[in-house]
Amino acid sequence: MAGNWKMYKNVSETRAYFQNFLPQVKDAKDREIVICPPFPNLETAVRETNDSIVKIGAQNLYWGKEGAVTGEVSGPMLHNIGCTYVIIAHSERREYFCEADEDVLKKTRAALEYELTPIVCVGERLGERETGQTETILVDQFRGGLSGLEPAEFAKIVVAYEPVWAIGTGKTATPEIAEEAHSIIRRQARDRFGDHAANKLRILYGGSVKPENVKALMFKEEIDGVLVGGASLNPDSFAAIVNF
Ligand code: PEP
Repeated sequence: MAGNWKMYKNVSETRAYFQNFLPQVKDAKDREIVICPPFPNLETAVRETNDSIVKIGAQNLYWGKEGAVTGEVSGPMLHNIGCTYVIIAHSERREYFCEADEDVLKKTRAALEYELTPIVCVGERLGERETGQTETILVDQFRGGLSGLEPAEFAKIVVAYEPVWAIGTGKTATPEIAEEAHSIIRRQARDRFGDHAANKLRILYGGSVKPENVKALMFKEEIDGVLVGGASLNPDSFAAIVNF
């Protein structure tokens, strides 16, 4: 159950969030909980969650280790402060920062090299769904961003299906739509990496997940978890999602 705070919250809001959130999820030991705050809050978030089951992830990374790359943050830097996850290729990064599938592959590899679990996002835009291109888009994103991984690398990643039309819009994909898309992704995983890898792959659904709709989504066998934006900003609503 992963939360993406996007560009929200400062350090003191981060502290207050965890003071409220942690007691609410302390018994959720059968869940893996990850929260991805903005870069300046990561160290605080790691410190606040140190003795808890909650893990902390970044929202992006650069593929190099260090160098003259102004404004970027590398895998070893994130690893060094205690991050264990990183979101890669969120649709906002693809859309506003022109991240291409070849960048996705480089970032995913870099994350793995520095012991960060990548949560790699894929998903179609509204126009692409309406013109029947969903499968083509998902297949292209999988082939361009993930097929180049070694099997041992692929075994360590998490994929998030996030239809762009459902992100921040209040329009959740129905459990059936999400399930169908997850099957397409899993089929790609099976074709490239085999049955075992495909069965083990965790695929999260993301797009307007809320306490009211999480149960129906999680009830689907193909859906292994959720990636939550807006509703993860409130500790009560994210706790309700985690404890669905
Ligand atoms: C997201 O940012 O990954 C997301 C799914 O956002 P929201 O839950 O607000 O749609």
